[in-house]
Amino acid sequence: MAYITLNKKYFFNNLDIIADKTKTKDKIALVLKDNAYGHGLLEVATMAKEYGITKAVVRCEVEAQMIKDFFDYILVLNDFPTKPHANINYTVNDIKSIDKFPHATKVELKVDTGMHRNGISIDEVQEALVKIKKQGLVLEAVFTHHRSADELSSEWFWQNEEFKKIKQTVRACGYEDIRFHSANSASLFRHVDFDEDMARVGIVAYGCMQLPHAIKVDGFKPILSLYASKISSRKLLKGACVGYGATYEVQKDCIVSNYDFGYGDGFLRSCSNNYETPHAKKLLGRISMDNSSFLCDDDELLIFDDAREVAKNANTISYEVLTSLRGYIKRIIL
Ligand SMILES: *Cc1c(COP(=O)(O)O)cnc(C)c1O
Repeated sequence: MAYITLNKKYFFNNLDIIADKTKTKDKIALVLKDNAYGHGLLEVATMAKEYGITKAVVRCEVEAQMIKDFFDYILVLNDFPTKPHANINYTVNDIKSIDKFPHATKVELKVDTGMHRNGISIDEVQEALVKIKKQGLVLEAVFTHHRSADELSSEWFWQNEEFKKIKQTVRACGYEDIRFHSANSASLFRHVDFDEDMARVGIVAYGCMQLPHAIKVDGFKPILSLYASKISSRKLLKGACVGYGATYEVQKDCIVSNYDFGYGDGFLRSCSNNYETPHAKKLLGRISMDNSSFLCDDDELLIFDDAREVAKNANTISYEVLTSLRGYIKRIIL
């Protein structure tokens, strides 16, 4: 069966570089949403705990409950509490949602500084603080999210300026000890001297961050590799076609093998007819639901060890390649 390996040494290497930037492990909040970017929630949580990471970020309460014993602090980005837990904080994404949180819930207020996706608007900050107090919620942090931290433009700077003003407003309202955070992976590495209370890092920890050349950071290593196993192989004569729709015609007599990894497992179908493995084995024809054919006779095939290469072929981003990997694929920590 197809399986995934996770390289712990590479993961710790990436965390070392991140901790160097945040100056302390305690300021790293590892983003584990979407099955830890497809790497496996419990597998990554286990490694992160061993490394000494104490903070995590997830999308929903179900994920938070699954890892509550691994971390001292978990931030839920997009969900409401049903089973409050001392370690779990919830995000206020909309001023109208404040009265949906039960009394005494620990919340973090998200402010929209330009992305216009989630968060309250800047001119609602004071009103939100009042509503949060009235509802009896415990406000622990105020945060924002960058829309273009991975692009070389002025965007990152003006969103930062907006967030600075928000910090002043919040402090002026009497919240002296509140924590502030705004950095995702790309944003963290654009700070010259990082001084916020926490960074929410996902893709960089998994070793697949992509930045323009001028702001590129080196040393990170992708931690996930995907292997598939041969189901069958056959000798094809020149002119034979492989797979659905007969979209690939072999140029000479050859051995073609079929492997147990298809789009149903997360192999993006747009890679069809357009992918070569790290060891230069060519994908032939269309990817099927549970199968893909390669010009190759190996019993086991390394499909990829750097999601960015697959992303290039599928005209997408490494995030999509990774989160597409189904949860049932076996994950092995090396
Ligand atoms: C997903 C997410 C992150 C992590 O982004 P990366 O680019 O993977 O570091 C951080 N903050 C929020 C709000 C997110 O949704």
